[in-house]
Amino acid sequence: MSINRIGVLTSGGDAPGMNAAIRAVVRTARANGVSCLGIRRGYNGLINGDVVELDARSVDGLLVKGGTMLYTARCEEFKTEEGQKRARDICRYLGIDGLVAIGGDGTFRGALDLSRGGVSTVGIPATIDNDIACTRYTIGYDTACNTALDAIDRLRDTMQSHERCSVVEVMGHRSGNLAMYVGIACGATAVLVPEKSVDMERDIFDRMRDGRIHHRNHHIIIVAEGFGHADAIAKDIHEATGVETRVTVLGHVQRGGSPTARDRVNATQMGAAAVNALLAGKTNRVVAAVNDGIVDLDIEEALALPPVFHEDLYVTTRQTIL
Ligand code: ATP
Repeated sequence: MSINRIGVLTSGGDAPGMNAAIRAVVRTARANGVSCLGIRRGYNGLINGDVVELDARSVDGLLVKGGTMLYTARCEEFKTEEGQKRARDICRYLGIDGLVAIGGDGTFRGALDLSRGGVSTVGIPATIDNDIACTRYTIGYDTACNTALDAIDRLRDTMQSHERCSVVEVMGHRSGNLAMYVGIACGATAVLVPEKSVDMERDIFDRMRDGRIHHRNHHIIIVAEGFGHADAIAKDIHEATGVETRVTVLGHVQRGGSPTARDRVNATQMGAAAVNALLAGKTNRVVAAVNDGIVDLDIEEALALPPVFHEDLYVTTRQTIL
């Protein structure tokens, strides 16, 4: 089937670089004589026909902007058979031959259902959590890590001045990948991730006591949100070591901001690859960063992969912390 019009949407949690991916989809489509519709508020927009025509000029200046110009939302109705049928009918009515869905695993499950219903779909992985098994990299990860690092560097100044310990909760959903990356980059005393158990006495308290002997007067403990209990951890640290301990939850601050060069480039390459896959007649694909290149993989196979934990980062945290 020839592709004359592509739809693009962002769904799930927003991530810096989603806009850059939208821009790449639109520019690549337009360069191939294909028109482009932006679908607003994720799959809600597909069900409600909430769309906007996008041409090459309408995405000017988008590369540097965080968030998503198309808005993002969750859509429970899309998970139902009626919702799916409505979405397919709208695609037919609007002349959408191919759809690019930018988001996480849930977004790809929706794309899979649509492609089974006859709409050509390609997914682009975008989430700050970097927890999508089929790809080494997801759009937004680098920016979120740098945003967290910037905040922690500032925290360190005040922790150092007051000789305190800071327990910093970073995002990552159920994954510890972002926490480990940030922990390595900020030289944390410990990184607590949901995938690994922790011996508080050995991994935190003893390190802090040992650090005191060597005149290390402040500590940063990174806790992945999936590990939880930041307040309880801070209380235990204070009781065990006597060091005044404060909790900082970085929260949604990590999701905002202008994307880094890495996110802009990745998003641009993935956006172009998604359109190229549709133009090549492919459907039910997700683009992925594999071995320094961008490839496209079967969505069903991609979704069947076990959760990804970057064991190499874990080994590095164990080897280099304190
Ligand atoms: P994030 O990683 O930021 O959470 P995500 O894409 O995994 O992103 P979800 O909320 O899980 O976010 O999914 C986004 C949307 O995808 C849902 O609101 C729903 O519209 C659609 N979706 C999720 N799962 C399914 C499914 N099994 N079938 C059809 N659609 C789905």
